[in-house]
Amino acid sequence: MPATHEVLNQPPPLADYNVFDADQALVDGVCRGEAAWALEDLKQMGQLAGSEEWQYRATLANGYPPVLRTHDRFGNRIDEVEFHPAWHELMTAAVGFGLHASPWREARPGAHVARAAGFLIWSQVESGHLCPISMTFASIPVIRRQPELAREWEPRLVSDKYEPHLALHKRSALCGMAMTEKQGGSDVRANTTRAMPQGDGAYQLTGHKWFCSAPMCDVFLILAQTSAGLGCFLLPRILPDGTRNRFLIQRLKDKLGNRSNASSEIELDGTWARLIGEEGRGVPVIAEMVNATRLDCVLGTAALMRQAFAAAAHHTSHRAAFGKRLIDQPLMRSVLADLALESEAATTLALRLARAADCAEVSEHEAHLKRLGTALGKYWVCKRGPAVAAEALECLGGNGYVEDSGLPRLYREAPLNSIWEGAGNVQTLDVLRVLSRTPDMAEALLDEIDEARGGDQRLDRAVTALRQELPRAVQMEGQARRLSERLALLLQASLLVRFSVPAVADAFCATRLDRDGGFAFGTLSPSADVTGILDRAWHQTKV
Ligand SMILES: Cc1cc2nc3c(=O)[nH]c(=O)nc-3n(C[C@H](O)[C@H](O)[C@H](O)COP(=O)(O)OP(=O)(O)OC[C@H]3O[C@@H](n4cnc5c(N)ncnc54)[C@H](O)[C@@H]3O)c2cc1C
Repeated sequence: MPATHEVLNQPPPLADYNVFDADQALVDGVCRGEAAWALEDLKQMGQLAGSEEWQYRATLANGYPPVLRTHDRFGNRIDEVEFHPAWHELMTAAVGFGLHASPWREARPGAHVARAAGFLIWSQVESGHLCPISMTFASIPVIRRQPELAREWEPRLVSDKYEPHLALHKRSALCGMAMTEKQGGSDVRANTTRAMPQGDGAYQLTGHKWFCSAPMCDVFLILAQTSAGLGCFLLPRILPDGTRNRFLIQRLKDKLGNRSNASSEIELDGTWARLIGEEGRGVPVIAEMVNATRLDCVLGTAALMRQAFAAAAHHTSHRAAFGKRLIDQPLMRSVLADLALESEAATTLALRLARAADCAEVSEHEAHLKRLGTALGKYWVCKRGPAVAAEALECLGGNGYVEDSGLPRLYREAPLNSIWEGAGNVQTLDVLRVLSRTPDMAEALLDEIDEARGGDQRLDRAVTALRQELPRAVQMEGQARRLSERLALLLQASLLVRFSVPAVADAFCATRLDRDGGFAFGTLSPSADVTGILDRAWHQTKV
């Protein structure tokens, strides 16, 4: 090699490390959530997720985005999307792990926590392909409401085989959802797609959907107007006679991130579908699916934060400046520790919400926490994602701004979870509605936070103050973000006080509740146990 090509002070790739083993907060959450039976599988998944081979597949799936094929060579409409083989490999793995269905296949204690941990691990390979995985997972409880549809579809939806082609007699299936139209996504009551009954229990749908992700799913849950108001419909891409349903893919979106995944605009023209539930009850029916996908938004963002932190910790462990490794420089340690706090708070909250999903049917407290806590977590964790991605990227300096580092992909992906399934304002207005209409839910949340009473004075003070303010705060629409942020932080703080190490709990309460810190990451107070935080977050990885 010519002397000019000597490569110095560049880190080795972060590869072949175990994404699961390295994340103590995740391992602890799995054990706490009665899912220790899944440890071995999660370890194996963690090893694959950290491998160079799977990371490369993720790069390929994003580097060669999907292509729309509207017609075959004879001019017939086919409305198909072509993906790079790496996409199909990612999908095969995710379905094989059961991330789309495992708790519905076997309802054992800890099933949702185990699946959540798997989702958190596998998201760290690639986020885009988890969109159809998430939607399929979330659709199953809704389809179960209509027994004849459940008999037909559930066995296929829970199958652990991935079959990418559209066909009538498949052993497996994936499900998408389409609500958003051009004139509105948050306010779905403005939907104009019409459903005309055919007299045989089926309907014909005519209209459009402005966002329809993963259009190669086999079946969709879709909202359309009936004479009694919105209904929720099940729309298969292949009709019972084996021909194609009218599902016209007009375009694929040219998106900021999430580029491996296809998101489309579709038109429906006398398209065959069947009703789930009753006419006029479409929103409450599909809300169950939306609530489940909201949990996946929390999980996906917790994963993104952890992946971004890991990249930053790895890079700074190998890169030196001014005579010392970056990770040994006091200011960089403060930045990394602050990122680690945010990441652990997100992971711990996400797993607590998954635990609530496991226990919701047998405990009212858990059912309330599942409903309200998920809305809070979706808002707050997703709001923090882009900030974490940006700061972690900066830890890599100029290298972080370059595609090869993988950080730009995370940065572009980061805002998405905050937008879909209810953008920030809509999410916090939902929190406000729940708090004001169902005081029991507010009480359940405060009880959950109070489980940590006595563990940290700042937390105790903050909960007491909030209890007093709550009745007035829930009346003020313009304060919905402020209130949701405070509640989410209190819930995260309570979980960390109870379940994390003192270094993490103390610094989180100091900076997030007492404002003994600044607005940017890396503004921890001088008393923060930075080494304690970093040892917990990054001690097991190969550096
Ligand atoms: C990549 C991608 C994929 C998607 N895939 C799907 C899909 O598969 N299926 C599907 O149905 N949808 C999908 N969506 C759509 C997504 O769910 C919507 O974009 C989202 O719900 C917001 O709706 P909207 O875009 O119409 O924004 P709008 O409803 O116009 O909202 C714009 C802004 O106004 C705010 N806002 C709304 N109401 C209020 C209020 N009362 N007070 C204060 N602020 C308010 C919102 O928070 C938001 O910030 C996807 C979106 C993206 C980006």
